Amino acid sequence: METYSCETHIDHALDMFVAQTQEFPIMDKLSDNEKLSTKCSYCEEQATYIVSSK
Ligand SMILES: [Zn+2]
Repeated sequence: METYSCETHIDHALDMFVAQTQEFPIMDKLSDNEKLSTKCSYCEEQATYIVSSK
């Protein structure tokens, strides 16, 4: 599972990720290219982070 998040929602994204997967979340910054085509999972902003377990 992967979740994308903006700066505002990263705490929420990490909480939701742990709740849903029971796995330790790994947070990475998206590249500028990826940001342009990726939206936050919780609002309409461009995503800044990707949260995944691996
Ligand atoms: Zn957001």
